Order: sequence, then C-alpha cells, then structure tokens
Amino acid sequence: MSDRSENDSAQAVSGGRVQAIQAVRGVKDVLPDESPAWQRLERICRDFFARYGFGEVRVPVFEVTQLFARSIGEATDIVEKEMYTFEDRNGQMLSLRPEGTAGVIRAYIQSGLQRESLTRLYYLGPMFRHERPQAGRLRQFHQIGAEALGSESPALDAEVLVLTADLFDSLGLLDGLSLEINSIGCPACRPRYTAALKGFLAGVAEHLCENCGRRKETNPLRVLDCKVESCRTHTTAAPEIIDHLCEGCSAHFSQVRTHLSAAGVAYAVNPRMVRGLDYYTRTAFEWTSSDLGAQSTVAAGGRYDRLVERLGGQSKPGIGFALGVERLLLLMDETREDPPHLFCALVGDEAEVAMVPVLRQVRNAGIRVDRAFEGSLKSQMKRAGKSGAAFCLIVGGDELARGQAILRDMAKRDQREIPLAGLADAVCEIVKAADA
Ligand SMILES: [Zn+2]
Ligand SMILES: [Zn+2]
Repeated sequence: MSDRSENDSAQAVSGGRVQAIQAVRGVKDVLPDESPAWQRLERICRDFFARYGFGEVRVPVFEVTQLFARSIGEATDIVEKEMYTFEDRNGQMLSLRPEGTAGVIRAYIQSGLQRESLTRLYYLGPMFRHERPQAGRLRQFHQIGAEALGSESPALDAEVLVLTADLFDSLGLLDGLSLEINSIGCPACRPRYTAALKGFLAGVAEHLCENCGRRKETNPLRVLDCKVESCRTHTTAAPEIIDHLCEGCSAHFSQVRTHLSAAGVAYAVNPRMVRGLDYYTRTAFEWTSSDLGAQSTVAAGGRYDRLVERLGGQSKPGIGFALGVERLLLLMDETREDPPHLFCALVGDEAEVAMVPVLRQVRNAGIRVDRAFEGSLKSQMKRAGKSGAAFCLIVGGDELARGQAILRDMAKRDQREIPLAGLADAVCEIVKAADA
C-alpha cells in the first residue's frame, strides 16, 4: 500500500481524479470576457501619454531589495511587511516590485537618460504586495503610471494633473471622481513641520493605535492618514503642513493651483493628505471615488525632487503618479469582446479539408472566424447562434456534391448558396459589406 500524503499536490487524488491546482490566494486571472476592458483602458492611457509626450519604458518585475528600501524607505509598511522578498540561488536579496517608480528611476539613471533636460516615461504592468486580499486589493495588482523628470516647474505638476483629468473624462469616469491636492514641503521646511507634529503627537500618544505609536517617531506624517478612529479624532487639531511651507514651496503650490484653475480642473486642498512614501516633496495628489468603499483611491502621485539623487543619480526633480487598474475597471462599464464575423459549421472530414484554404484566406483578410471541431450540424448551429456571429457558413457532404456552400445571415434568418469556386472572395465581400 502506498502511504500517499494529501499535501503532496502532484500525487493528491480525490475520488480517483487528480486534484486541480488553484491559483495563489490574492491573485486573479483575466479571462477573455474581461480582457477587452483591460485593453480599452490600456489603449486610452497609451493614447493620452503619447499626446503629452510620454514614451513607454518596460522595466523588470524584480529588482535588488535595496532599491526599494532606499527609495520607498525602510520604515514603511511596504518595505517592512508587504514586499515579496527572497534570496536567489546566488544569495542575492531580490524583491518583486511593490510599485513602479523605483525601477523606472533606476532605469532612468542607469540608461543615461538623466543627462537629458526633460524625460517623460510611462509604464504599465503587475505590482506585488503581500496584503490582506479584498475587493479592489490583490497581491498581484496592476498599475499604469508615469514619471516626468528634469523640471520643477509648477506648470509640469499642473500638466500631469490635467492629463489625469482628461484621461478619466475620456474613460467616462470624471463625474464620479474627486481630486485632492496638497503640498508636503521640501527638506528646507518639512523638518520644522515634522518637529511641530511630533510635539503635538507626544501630547496625544496614549490615544494612538499601536502602529501610530511607532510611526509618531519614525514616520510621523503617516499618523495623519491612519484610518483608526481614535487616531483620527485625536489628531483633528494637529498642525497642518500648509501653514509651515517655506516661501519657495508656498509659491510653487500657489502656481500649481493657478494653472489648475486656468485649465478648469476642479480640485480640493486636503492638508491631511501626506502620501505613504518617504520620497515625496511639494505637490501630492489623489483621485478618489465614492463608489469603491475603503479602497477608494484610483490614482495617486506627487513630486519627488530628491528621489533621483537618493538613488545615486544626478540631482533631478520629478513628478509622477500611478493608476490602480483593477479599481478603475470596477468603475468602468463592461465592454464585451467583439463577436466573430463568421461561424463555420462543417460536417464531415471532406468538408473540413475542403474549407482549410477558405478559412485561412478569410482570416488573412482580417475577418474574425469561429468554428466548432465536433458535433452534429444542429449542435454546431446552436453554437453559431451563441457566438454572436453575423453569418454562418455551412458546408457538408451535400453541399460539396452540389459545388455550393450555404451562407446564413443570422440576424435576418435567411440564407443563400455560394459556389465553392471563389467562395473565400465572395464571403469576404459579403461580410465586409455587412460590417461597414
Ligand atoms: Zn519648502
Ligand atoms: Zn493609527
């Protein structure tokens, strides 16, 4: 008798059948009924990025762990608790990227692009964080993001914000979203603010959650966006960064606002919005939806004038943002995949062989063709109806003998005979005329 362990997935057997292996918890397959919405979102984003002078960069999904520790910050939840970090076979510590900016900036420095005066890059792809999965939050999730590097002009901040507003408008989502902005200062003015905030937090320390008890020393700004009720209520009187900005930051923020107003983009200033990542300076922003519950942020970003330097590059200012693809898709209307133009119902080996060159020619003419590979004529016709195809081409032994094929117009429920000689050309012509 074998002593088979049920945990041995390769050998596990239940009721005589091998047990199917499930996807990892918190990840999701995108199947063909959903992928048209993904493709539409990606297409519209690519189009907007091109209009604003952004070029696509494709960076690896894993990097040395150090890159994220240095850019995102050691004392952040992402680096401390959420990254997928592992030692590879050479003993090097690597992490799956938890966000896109760090890798893009690494590539910007390494490639020499940092020598250009202005560089605009966008990216899209999967990110990885070991968080508790819930609606709109997965362990492999997708972001579309952009980084504009080389200028600290407030006009650039405003242009990036206008891009996001028009992008959401074009996706039909703008009405349900709100934009909040803030300035979180610079290395000249933020330490003064941080000191004031630490002083305030020390006075309410007993009311803070365990996380904030720690963060009030390591990352006090983060206490301001803690979701725990007692942290919220006891920090309502906390000092606001907007009152501590230096002259340069204050003028910068006011210019961003002037440009946004000139563009007619609606926004609100939220002095408590501080962003989770250490490397942000000056402008910070978030687009949120009221239709998504707790995971309401659909896009977030801001300026990071010190990041390039911090990662070993030149001193280059920059601003960027990322969109959460899964969350945006929850808000977007379902778009169905395009149905086939033509379904082929073929009965018998002879008909199948005779139609090989025809199907090939029709598909090469750009026509979407679906077909069955088994079943009676009746069951194939049923599938033709379900497929949503406009036409059905029917060929069996009788048709071959007559030298004719039948082309059925599925909507009009009528059919005609077409000679086998020149069949592909005739089908192409009819299908294209109907599709025009
Ligand atoms: Zn400042
Ligand atoms: Zn808290």
